[in-house]
Amino acid sequence: MAKVAFLGLGVMGYPMAGHLKNKGGHDVTVYNRTQAKSEQWAKEFGGRAAATPKEAASGQDLVMMCVGNDNDVRQVTLGAGGAFDGMKKGAVFVDHTTASAEVARELYAEAKKRGFDFVDAPVSGGQAGAQNGVLTVMCGGDSGPYGKAEPVIAAYARMCKLIGGSGAGQLTKMVNQICIAGLVEGLAEALHFAKKAGLDVESVIQTISKGAAQSWQMENRYKTMNEGKFDFGFAVDWMRKDLSICLAEARRNGANLPVAALVDQFYAEVQKMGGSRWDTSSLIARLDR
Ligand code: NAP
Repeated sequence: MAKVAFLGLGVMGYPMAGHLKNKGGHDVTVYNRTQAKSEQWAKEFGGRAAATPKEAASGQDLVMMCVGNDNDVRQVTLGAGGAFDGMKKGAVFVDHTTASAEVARELYAEAKKRGFDFVDAPVSGGQAGAQNGVLTVMCGGDSGPYGKAEPVIAAYARMCKLIGGSGAGQLTKMVNQICIAGLVEGLAEALHFAKKAGLDVESVIQTISKGAAQSWQMENRYKTMNEGKFDFGFAVDWMRKDLSICLAEARRNGANLPVAALVDQFYAEVQKMGGSRWDTSSLIARLDR
């Protein structure tokens, strides 16, 4: 059993923190900006709710966080009442936010200066993955602190791996999002074409999902894409945030991402259609309109 804090009880963080308590059996303190949520969590899971990130982080072996973007990450760690002011020496800070590799490296260096460790550890698997405790966690940092974090992360992960030094977790998440962008657009065009061709989409998918075109997106999203239902899942706004991180990194490392850049613009159109909170599979909506 470890002494753990979890900062940021959103769609992802709330169930993740719950698994730390119920599955991991850890001593868990939570912090959330909107305090009603942390109080609700404490009531539901029986942990403690702290008023600030600093208070939550104080005296913990491990501090996990899952907030929105780079600015939020900086605010919760380094802002007034920030978690870094509460970290004890030798502790490990694990950031599950999808953020830039730059902010990961910046916080890794800051943590080292203050005598504790920082691991960037973005996740994939979505809301369902968080609720079922089967997330994929991609990590960057040093092997010693990673080794301390991994058995605790196991409470909500099916796959957790140290990919490389600081920032490597965020870079791996970028690879993940680049894969998804092109794949979802391909699937959207294929389903759009099947309908225009007058084919029975159910029969088409039953057949081709057993072959080389199969994908997680196909298995899990073709039905709702075909029905034009997008009111769930991973929001377009979040995907655009992630793609902007990918495109900024590509400008630095010289990678060519023509399809990811184009799909980002398609998502901008979906936002204009009112789809900011729609699932990423809503790319088909701009083809079908
Ligand atoms: P969410 O439901 O919007 O929750 C965000 C959480 O961060 C909330 O607890 C929010 O507090 C807190 N927060 C945001 N900015 C803050 C700030 N400046 N100071 C303090 N707290 C702040 O988001 P989510 O869906 O859980 O996603 C969180 C992260 O995981 C994002 O980086 C996202 O890209 C990534 N992710 C999400 C999914 C998914 O399917 N949702 C999948 C993989 C990765 P309040 O309650 O006060 O607003």
